[in-house]
Amino acid sequence: MPVQESVAIPADRLRDFVARIFSVAGCDAAEAARIGRYLVSANLAGHDSHGVIRVPRYVAWLQEGAVYPGMGLTIIREDKTHAVVDGNCGFGQTIGPLAVDLGIKKAKQTGLAAIALHRAGHLGRIGDWGERAAEAGLLSLHFVNVAGGELTAPWGGVSRRFATNPICITVPRAGGVPLVLDFATSRVAEGKVLVASQGGKKVPDDSLIGPDGTISGDPRLLYGEIEGTHVRDATKGKGALRTFGEHKGSGLAFMCELLAGCLTGGATSGPMPSGPRRITNGMLSIYIDPAHFAGAGFAQAVEDYAAYVKAAQPASPGGEVLLPGEPEIRTREARLAGGIPLSAETWAAICATARDLALTPPLL
Ligand code: NAD
Repeated sequence: MPVQESVAIPADRLRDFVARIFSVAGCDAAEAARIGRYLVSANLAGHDSHGVIRVPRYVAWLQEGAVYPGMGLTIIREDKTHAVVDGNCGFGQTIGPLAVDLGIKKAKQTGLAAIALHRAGHLGRIGDWGERAAEAGLLSLHFVNVAGGELTAPWGGVSRRFATNPICITVPRAGGVPLVLDFATSRVAEGKVLVASQGGKKVPDDSLIGPDGTISGDPRLLYGEIEGTHVRDATKGKGALRTFGEHKGSGLAFMCELLAGCLTGGATSGPMPSGPRRITNGMLSIYIDPAHFAGAGFAQAVEDYAAYVKAAQPASPGGEVLLPGEPEIRTREARLAGGIPLSAETWAAICATARDLALTPPLL
């Protein structure tokens, strides 16, 4: 396919293509379809950082034995209200739903459950897991870290000490689509720097910090020189991501390490390994059934308060207050109608991965 500036691909075709890639790469059909489903779900939500741009990296991890196909959860410890589970370095798109479903089952019985997951392959967009719990009528909170994924400097420092450690809080709504607060505690997710390094949207120029304390938006601080290669290796850069919100984001990132790394029995982030690039997510998730708390009045109270917040005077003429999750709903609608935009470089990298597996990319 000739390289274009960017392409827009219908979600279902992209999902099928990604599923075919992982099927040929060694996953069974159901797992390959799940990987396609959740990567494309991140693109549909507007989080291209956690979408199909990850395909070359996931395939490389599979081939290097850094992530394993066909894995399930091992329950290390369990009672009615909680479980500690090992994801066995299986694909996050398989391990994530299994861990969430265990939390849903327990919270439906007791009203409150915590699932401490360690050694999950990359869990992608954490909002997908909150949305899965919300579909079952539950609120959920997720604190995530990345063992082996040290990328972010603490407030006041320049050395990498945290991963990008996302936090997600999801609240179901009577109308169906939940409220989803879901963000990295770094100023931008690493994947957003990846997107920028492949000709996509630039990251803000205060996203990264160099070893001398210089603040910048240059992806080379994370990946080193990037000329002539599709593979981005974050061990090569000499700088670090910065946390959002000064000391507050830094404090949240630190607590994610303690909750998702120490409490789950997994590992905190540490220096990125330079051999097999294994990174695994730890995730402490708390599931709450509102029926056991505020009861029948909860759904209406959420609607009333959401409407009150939406009705705040906009800061600028024609402006609008958005609720957590609203930007994703709008992007999803637009992309389902008009296709998922990918930079030519991202599409070329996915197609190169497919060709390496003797698969012919679809003609667009
Ligand atoms: P972001 O900065 O785009 O923030 C997204 C959140 O902010 C959403 O909840 C969104 O609804 C809300 N939001 C955005 N604009 C808003 C507005 N104008 N008004 C009100 N709310 C608004 O997200 P991010 O930090 O770039 O993270 C992107 C994704 O990366 C997330 O899905 C996260 O789970 C994922 N992530 C995953 C990992 C991992 O290890 N698996 C690591 C880091 C990040």
